[in-house]
Amino acid sequence: MTHQISTLPEDWTRAMAIVAHPDDLEYGAASAIARWTAAGKSIAYVIATDGEAGIDGLTPAEAGPLRQKEQLASAALVGVDDVTFLGHRDGVVEAGIGLRSDIARQIRRFRPEVLITATYELTYGMTAGQRIVNQADHRAVAVAVLDAARDAGNRWIFPELLDEGLEPWAGVRHVYLMGANQPSHAVDVTDHLDAGIASLRAHAAYLQGLGRDFDPAQFLRTMTAAAGTSIGARHAVAMAQIQLQGV
Ligand SMILES: [Zn+2]
Repeated sequence: MTHQISTLPEDWTRAMAIVAHPDDLEYGAASAIARWTAAGKSIAYVIATDGEAGIDGLTPAEAGPLRQKEQLASAALVGVDDVTFLGHRDGVVEAGIGLRSDIARQIRRFRPEVLITATYELTYGMTAGQRIVNQADHRAVAVAVLDAARDAGNRWIFPELLDEGLEPWAGVRHVYLMGANQPSHAVDVTDHLDAGIASLRAHAAYLQGLGRDFDPAQFLRTMTAAAGTSIGARHAVAMAQIQLQGV
């Protein structure tokens, strides 16, 4: 099966990347984020949990602060210093109105034109015949992001945000899904792959906690080379575009 992949449009200045865990953005999107911040765009990160359930050998009380610290370092390496942790409980995130409200608050604060999140699909996999379950937290956050993007633009949904001085923001045009089974757009990251690799390496305690050999450079080079062929670039990051406003 083939489908057309277009170059991701870059006619915007502000994007917010909203994901479940520290490290979710570093498995691909960080190289694109490095490209965009280098071009002068403003990017903010919103992380729903502290990833405190992500390291088998560390208790959540130990892992949470450590993973926050690694995420901040990781973001700085690709030019992002606006990082918010929402404090939802790792592993059991629900796409309910609590999460929607928390995300809508961040969207109203930062006023992005573009959102980036992980796909909501139940399974994914770059390789035919290999299907991997997409974690529950990723799915929940993606659904909440799509709904919160609409909520952020409606004055009468979450009116308590008005009391916080946060006026409606209906300016989100597109949501991009990382890891989507059928990407529609790709961004050339050939010149920013090294920053993306460094950004993943910054999750040192997490990667060590995996307890198996994992080479961030090899992983990201292979993944981005595969996506690159779709747009004639050496390395690219591919995502599925969802349009938020009807024409
Ligand atoms: Zn994750």
